[in-house]
Amino acid sequence: MELSYWEYKSWLSDIDYTVVGSGIVGLSCALHLKQTFPKAKVLVVEKGILPQGASTKNAGFACFGSISEILDDLQNHSEDEVLGLVEKRYKGIQLLRKQLGDKALGYQKGSGHELFLQKDKALYDHCLESLEAINKLVSPIFGPNTFVKLSNTYGFNKVVDHYITNPMEGQIDTGDMVLSLLRKVQELGVLVLSGVSVEAYENTLDGVRICTQEFEFKSSKLLIATNGFASKILGDLVKPARAQVLITEPIADLHIQGTFHLDKGYYYFRNVGNRILLGGGRNLDFKAEETTEFGQTSLVQDHLEYLLKEVILPGKSFTIASRWSGIMGVGPQKKPIIKELSDGVYCGVRLGGMGIAIGSIVGKELAEIAQ
Ligand SMILES: Cc1cc2nc3c(=O)[nH]c(=O)nc-3n(C[C@H](O)[C@H](O)[C@H](O)COP(=O)(O)OP(=O)(O)OC[C@H]3O[C@@H](n4cnc5c(N)ncnc54)[C@H](O)[C@@H]3O)c2cc1C
Repeated sequence: MELSYWEYKSWLSDIDYTVVGSGIVGLSCALHLKQTFPKAKVLVVEKGILPQGASTKNAGFACFGSISEILDDLQNHSEDEVLGLVEKRYKGIQLLRKQLGDKALGYQKGSGHELFLQKDKALYDHCLESLEAINKLVSPIFGPNTFVKLSNTYGFNKVVDHYITNPMEGQIDTGDMVLSLLRKVQELGVLVLSGVSVEAYENTLDGVRICTQEFEFKSSKLLIATNGFASKILGDLVKPARAQVLITEPIADLHIQGTFHLDKGYYYFRNVGNRILLGGGRNLDFKAEETTEFGQTSLVQDHLEYLLKEVILPGKSFTIASRWSGIMGVGPQKKPIIKELSDGVYCGVRLGGMGIAIGSIVGKELAEIAQ
């Protein structure tokens, strides 16, 4: 791509901070940099026409961890670590709400329910037995008796007759969240270039040389927020994990409201107005879903439709309006990686399945380590 003197001068010279990736982490990072250093030249480069990872594809749960997930995490993490993870999610949502406002975010407080399939009755019993202890553990964040047992008033089928519910959870409008973040950073003077893929970088004496598929430029600092795609630039730090989703057409008299975790969190669904959005099913073939390729498989999509028909909307007719996928970044630990990679080069990646909850804080922390 041939660039003019003017194009280089206005867009690509004297850059203080280049952020790679315009998902929630990259945009939150750019926002924090510009709020801290209003005079700094901050550039965000994004390989997609729209952000093309997880931030515009996700289910929009403002969630902090279901009871079975917290119990599962306690197998591999200390109590302090688990409490830290839950607290970070809670504070992340508070920060996002503060930065954008509930209206722009489409934030709605509503309960988050965990459902247990009848085949998982033993897990349900274990969660019930642990209810008091888990409530005590998370009480410094939410206050006493957060998780409660509620009866199956929505009439789900093939599940045990109670949910375990966290009334502190909520849902957001995923598209509006990223659009509002984009507007906000651009209003503050951040430059956002779409369709630019960073292929490599090299430390130089006075900063970092950044090579894209079309051109090269220099920046004082480089901040990488490419999450599921991070292995392209960073090697094996993060594994991609595709997640598939579908949404129904509007359903007459739909009374289901809130966010729902099903089958140990492998499936999740919520209402979007009078539609149902349902995602998950990576556990059906982890290997096939360890990919940065977008797309759907009949194995996963058929099972999502089975769950809609048999468990979520028994006896109701529905039509699927659309299907899509997103790419997450996962690893053996749930903690995100926020670190300096070399002089002036930093990353904030591996957000897992909770990136909406923690993305704003990870972006802020990424900006802070680069100052
Ligand atoms: C289907 C699905 C459902 C989910 N549901 C929830 C939920 O309900 N609640 C929740 O908290 N989390 C959820 N998540 C997880 C959450 O969406 C992610 O953790 C979060 O969006 C990650 O944000 P990010 O900014 O780190 O990454 P991304 O949003 O993936 O952003 C990375 C960006 O970097 C760009 N990029 C990559 N490589 C390059 C390159 N070389 N050059 C330039 N740009 C590049 C990508 O195009 C992308 O836009 C879900 C994820 C998926 C996929």
